[in-house]
Amino acid sequence: MKTVNNFNFKDKKVLVRVDFNVPQNDELKVTDNTRISAAKPTIDKILKDGGSVILMTHLGRPKGKSSDEFSLKHILPEIENVLGKSVKFAEDCIGENTTKMASELQSGEILLLENLRFHNEEENGDKDFAEKLSKLGDAYVNDAFGTAHRKHASTAVIAKFFPLTKFFGLLMAKELEAIDKVLKTGERPITAILGGSKISSKITIIENILPAVDNLIIGGGMAFTFIKALGGHIGNSIVEEDKMPLALEILEKAKQKNVKIYLPADVIIADSFSNDAEKKEADVYHIPENWQGLDVGTRTRDIFHDVILDSKTILWNGPVGVFEMPNFSAGTESLGESIAESTKLGAFSLVGGGDSVAFVKQFGYADKVSYVSTGGGAMLESLEGLELPGVAAVNV
Ligand code: AMP
Repeated sequence: MKTVNNFNFKDKKVLVRVDFNVPQNDELKVTDNTRISAAKPTIDKILKDGGSVILMTHLGRPKGKSSDEFSLKHILPEIENVLGKSVKFAEDCIGENTTKMASELQSGEILLLENLRFHNEEENGDKDFAEKLSKLGDAYVNDAFGTAHRKHASTAVIAKFFPLTKFFGLLMAKELEAIDKVLKTGERPITAILGGSKISSKITIIENILPAVDNLIIGGGMAFTFIKALGGHIGNSIVEEDKMPLALEILEKAKQKNVKIYLPADVIIADSFSNDAEKKEADVYHIPENWQGLDVGTRTRDIFHDVILDSKTILWNGPVGVFEMPNFSAGTESLGESIAESTKLGAFSLVGGGDSVAFVKQFGYADKVSYVSTGGGAMLESLEGLELPGVAAVNV
């Protein structure tokens, strides 16, 4: 993998595609700067070499039209704050004025280009637009893992204009290494934990990771499709009846591949889908009529704990209960605790994709696992075994 560490950028103007698609409040102030600080090591490396940096990113979905709401000028102060340097700002990502600003950029300076998605050509992967962007710099770096699954002008198409001077940023390299550690080079036993509401959205992931893992823990709403397929009574629990044959197929495939599958043994059931619902514990195969499982039970937490503590590599995607409701978050919290403990004992743990990332941040586990992915969709597509266009373009 060719990263920025393999090159000296002295006197080079380096176009760096970052993912600064950060959350903002009503006053458009940045509420979580994780994605900005995640790109800092790459930017610092180039500046330390004596190069200059031209930052490109999108923000939100302006659908090809420039608008104040999606302007990067609102996040510029936070970028300067995180990078600890002043950053110049070009009010359009291409055009005469931007070309002039880029050409006048001195070693050690940073220029931020306005939202790439103010031009339709970005999302359309337009070659001419990519070429115009490419003319602004001498080298290209892709450090935008969060958008690596998109075949956009600045993430995939632009790379061909830099046949010899295209590199992965350090964040991108870390993300790809973390996935490899789970799927290719991980120390065994390897355990994947999948949760969330629906089996349908995780099928491709399950199929792709089965050959790589030793244990697969299945929790959350998706577990009930398996339990019902196995003949259990699941009451009103969430289920995808049409996916029941597929669930049995997965269990069979796992058996053939010697992968141990762990489904919940007991669950916390509720008489309605509400935090204030009446709740009690039940065997997962015997949930009474009109009750539904909203969290894993205490016996299950112990079983999952033992598997996780025995693992050397752990992947976690998706909550094992409705963690948004405090009365049904204990199972997911216990899981976070087990992963943290195993990590402390030397296991490598990767948390990736949507809700589990939100969970570890909200409940304070982000520093207690080995790696929290910054890219939701890109992480899920990697786990599905797809080659990300933003990665392929730099690799060729
Ligand atoms: P996903 O987006 O598919 O990863 O699913 C995440 C969502 O699954 C979260 O919002 C959880 O509240 C939800 N979830 C987890 N367990 C259950 C359950 N037992 N019943 C219903 N929803 C659940």
